[in-house]
Amino acid sequence: MKCLSTDVIGLYNLSYQYHPAYFQVDFICIFEGAIIAFEVKNDEGDVYVDKDERWLSASGNEMSNPLLQLKRNASLLAPFLKNLNIQLPRNYYLIFVHPDFKKRMSCSSCDGFMITINRILYCKNCHAMQTIEEGMLFNIKELITVFPEKKITSAHDWCGK
Ligand SMILES: [Zn+2]
Repeated sequence: MKCLSTDVIGLYNLSYQYHPAYFQVDFICIFEGAIIAFEVKNDEGDVYVDKDERWLSASGNEMSNPLLQLKRNASLLAPFLKNLNIQLPRNYYLIFVHPDFKKRMSCSSCDGFMITINRILYCKNCHAMQTIEEGMLFNIKELITVFPEKKITSAHDWCGK
């Protein structure tokens, strides 16, 4: 435990056994009126989320879905805090801290990776072609599906363009 300031307490690598479940939360900030829990990932490179919500590396290897882990931790953290008689509003965030983490544009036809050739997106998998604008629109819709609570202020971080 560390006091981040006079108003915030930070708990790092919280591990807890709760009938018979075990969970681990990377970082929790306890404010006077709220609790914020963070799942921290250090994955690097391209990550792709397909239409079945599988998380894939650029090489196509399936990764564990960090959103499922976040949801599981949220469902276990609530009774843990209630047991401590802590009843504050809670928010949960998934953050990627590796500077090389990025996401590629995905193909609306087959969910393959798109590459850019002369401002045209080309799918190496199914050979579909789209304008950058069409690709961005598809990927923004995908973003809204995967992260419905996220406030969209810029497509840059999601689409990488
Ligand atoms: Zn395709």
